[in-house]
Amino acid sequence: MSQQGYVAAPPYSQSQPGIGGFSAGFGPPNSSLHYGHYGDPNSSYSAPQPGVSKSTVPLGPSAPVGPPPPGTHQFSQTNFQNGPSTPGQQPHRFQGPPPPSNTGPSYPPYGHQSQPAYPNTASTSSTTQLANQLNSMQINSYGPGTTPSSRMSSGHPASFQGPQLPPPTQQQVALPPGSQVPPPANNVNGLCAQPSLPPMARQDGIPGSVPPNPNLQQLSGQPPGPGYHPQQANYGPQMAGSQLSYPGAFPGGPAQLSGPQQKKLDPDSIPSPIQVIENDKASRGGQIYATNTRGQVPPLVTTDCIIQDQGHASPRYIRCTTYCFPSSSDMAKQARIPLAAVIQPFAIVPPNEAPLYVVNHGETGPIRCNRCKAYMCPFMQFIEGGRRYQCGFCNCINDVPPFFFQHLDHIGRRVDHYERPELSLGSYEYVATLDYCRNNKPPKPPAYIFMIDVSYRNINSGLVKLICDELKTLLDKLPREEQEESSAIRVGFVTYNKVLHFFNVKSSLAQPQMMVVSDVGEVFVPLLDGFLVNFQESRSVVLNLLDQIPEMFADTNESETIFAPVIQAGMEALKAAECAGKLFIFHSSLPTAEAPGKLRNRDDKKLLNTDKEKTLFQPQVNSYEALARDCVANGCCVNLFLFPNQYVDVASMGLVTMYTGGTLYKYNNFQLDSDSPQFLSDLRKDVEKKTGFDAIMRVRTSTGFRATDFFGAIYMNNTTDVEMAAVDCDKAVTVEFKHDDKLNEDSGALIQCAVLYTSISGQRRLRIHNIGLNCSSQLADVYKTCETDALINFFAKSAFKAVLSQPLKTVREILVTQTAHMLACYRKNCASPSAVSQLILPDAMKVLPVYMNCLLKSCVLVGRPEIPTDERAYHRQLVMSMGVADTQLFFYPQLLPIHSLDLKSDAVPAAVRCSEERLSEGGAFILANGLSMFLWLGVSAPPELIQGLFNVPSFAHISTEATLLPDLDNPFSKKIKSILEHIQSQKPYNKTSLCLHSFFMPLIIVKQREQPEMLFRQFLVEDKSIYGGASYVDFLCCVHKEICQLLS
Ligand SMILES: [Zn+2]
Repeated sequence: MSQQGYVAAPPYSQSQPGIGGFSAGFGPPNSSLHYGHYGDPNSSYSAPQPGVSKSTVPLGPSAPVGPPPPGTHQFSQTNFQNGPSTPGQQPHRFQGPPPPSNTGPSYPPYGHQSQPAYPNTASTSSTTQLANQLNSMQINSYGPGTTPSSRMSSGHPASFQGPQLPPPTQQQVALPPGSQVPPPANNVNGLCAQPSLPPMARQDGIPGSVPPNPNLQQLSGQPPGPGYHPQQANYGPQMAGSQLSYPGAFPGGPAQLSGPQQKKLDPDSIPSPIQVIENDKASRGGQIYATNTRGQVPPLVTTDCIIQDQGHASPRYIRCTTYCFPSSSDMAKQARIPLAAVIQPFAIVPPNEAPLYVVNHGETGPIRCNRCKAYMCPFMQFIEGGRRYQCGFCNCINDVPPFFFQHLDHIGRRVDHYERPELSLGSYEYVATLDYCRNNKPPKPPAYIFMIDVSYRNINSGLVKLICDELKTLLDKLPREEQEESSAIRVGFVTYNKVLHFFNVKSSLAQPQMMVVSDVGEVFVPLLDGFLVNFQESRSVVLNLLDQIPEMFADTNESETIFAPVIQAGMEALKAAECAGKLFIFHSSLPTAEAPGKLRNRDDKKLLNTDKEKTLFQPQVNSYEALARDCVANGCCVNLFLFPNQYVDVASMGLVTMYTGGTLYKYNNFQLDSDSPQFLSDLRKDVEKKTGFDAIMRVRTSTGFRATDFFGAIYMNNTTDVEMAAVDCDKAVTVEFKHDDKLNEDSGALIQCAVLYTSISGQRRLRIHNIGLNCSSQLADVYKTCETDALINFFAKSAFKAVLSQPLKTVREILVTQTAHMLACYRKNCASPSAVSQLILPDAMKVLPVYMNCLLKSCVLVGRPEIPTDERAYHRQLVMSMGVADTQLFFYPQLLPIHSLDLKSDAVPAAVRCSEERLSEGGAFILANGLSMFLWLGVSAPPELIQGLFNVPSFAHISTEATLLPDLDNPFSKKIKSILEHIQSQKPYNKTSLCLHSFFMPLIIVKQREQPEMLFRQFLVEDKSIYGGASYVDFLCCVHKEICQLLS
């Protein structure tokens, strides 16, 4: 390796505006908000040509649908399974430049073989009953091996089996096809409450053949029949665009019962997220997952395994919606599966996985392709004895610089292949040269500025003192590079109400000095020297200041605050100091003082469910966008800690945080006693977080496709450069790709993500993540390699972006329509012929409907007067920067039974499905979604458990005030506390990982049948929501009906 250091080098390529140049020209962010994928979302579904589906997917013998094998206790895995697929059967098409380890997968490429299509626990005795229940809704889940022609032609026997059910009755039993119930008059997501009905009623008839019912205005449903619940009688006005028919809650109720009796669908018969998670854990958990094969589907985010980088980026850094892209744009449009990657460039890797190597190519900087500027990586193929290389992205032939020359071995691989991370690994870093630095000067270490609202309420509540006391110890924990003794990060302090107070804490001073800036119209920084200091050097002055601040403002009467000038001041201070950094702003109220960015209370519930609802998510004044732009341009990341007692307009106040890669924390009605642990934990984690500053990300792709849209806590100056004032370990950017041209199945679809950033010690670096995906002209290959968790991440972010510009109803409808399109296309092109009444789900998308329904029920997408506008804006902002593991947990919470614990075991109990049916009066459950955590207690919960946990004799004695469990010396208490800690401190399920949750989850104690239970029930996401969102079963029916319409 060459020497380090910043030295002059040839001019940095101009073909990559933004990096190095930090060019201006800042358009409105996200100005072109297109929602929908592959063209107009409202355009009618272009059904696949019949010939295509039949000719390209030879289906072989049709699904044997027979009775379960004798002696079967359960619908065991193999019963519903589509036959084991062995690694050898997985087509490996990679014939281009070999990745570092193309010597054969050490891991089965696709490990979902053993998943049962219908996880359930039905015993033999209930088989018949279950079969009958299933008759009312037949769901097939075809495994990966069922349909692809490659599998069939490989001589593998047709292994796909439909549900092991008795043959269907002679009458085709179908889902009610047309119960397309328009939303009730309030038009809230069509959320028809239907609690007392069985979720699913059977109805005979072939979907599509039912004539439209004029009463239902083209909706082909049956009129309400017997058993129709009065509550249902609210057929409202027809929804606009009737083919977009998500009624939110597809009620089973109105189904005409022409069958002998109404049958309830067994929840166990529909695909279970828990079962999918557990199956993946069972088949892939605890193993080593080597990334040596292009297009390999990684274990689920919920599966704990050790990842070995062997040429493609770890799934901790990049996860894709599918690992096999359709080879043509037409195919992509047909399937409507979003092609996207969720990139978490600074994700934390557990200690048992290798950290990133740093590569130094010396004074000329990292080697890059002359044409497309891709960085040297495993996708470059060396030719001509090693003197030249062909770029895997643009195919350009480049000369190998003399210093980098190396001979090739007999298979054409450089002999130093395994010695160089940039040739053999998916992820690594480059030392960046001066060309990559702002103004061609080496960066200074970043700075953290703490900016405290010292208005009356914050002083009075004790918050200011709490913050100051905490900082005294926290400043010793500023992040540092491992080889450094102390942190290079400098710190500064500002307090404010209607005016700003800067503090000089220079080490030579005996006392800190305060300088007041009262002209908040044009903020200037009153001091340069002494404002940003090294904490260790200025320790005594800083500690002195932190002692004084609460007293200094103890008698304040000032209740009005400014906000935008605070950000402006912090940004100007960083700019003056010529460094990047983070602002930590602790703020409580709507900034109503006369100043730029002044806000008024514009919350208006009357806007809900109107076309103007979107304005609630937009900033109320333009100045925040301009401020965000300036902050990004100056590498100023804004972390906002909000302590509101009422509406504070999160949509406006959080905007700069959002666009600068910051994190928004919100503590409603903050109470010092009960809420301090949460706030302090969040603050500590944030201060200690590993972060990249002044970052710019560029995603390059091989020919035929390109990145077209980006979602995250980011700012886009142009169409290609993703700017982030800072990017921390929790932030993920979701990138959507579209075709330019046909993709080459041999060379695949290659992606390189490069993040240029300044490290915490002030080094300019490039972090590179490479991943190769397969391409196929077989739709089945695309479906087989989908990752539902990544799909949901994409759908959530694209929908939450779209709410800024489109009516929420439209956004919801698009989600439903697209779900139906994806599944209909699979059925039409990939699945065996089957009764139209069957709902067929691709194995890899088995739980897409349940997750999609959870997303549809999110408070962001459902406007209800009960849900505070700020809460919706807050959730929206959080989700926009989440990675796949975060969105998975957020939309489908973890529900753990704790009443039947094995006290001797260390294991966390297995999760159960988020439905009231899983609760029991005699039980106790923990529920967590990454943001909130509940302890739910049934009225008949075991007394010994109650005694053990709360030290009270009975259920009635339990106080729900506490946000912590008492420390008690008994096995119950210790065990539950350890489970809570586990959930709190670690990514769920992931024992080896040290990935902390971004947010501390306060514990909310909920007693069955007491009022707070309503809050808890919102998280039972498989049930009908108290705000009207559909139950899982109802949503399945709704989607199935849409599919039937699309196929008819
Ligand atoms: Zn190139």
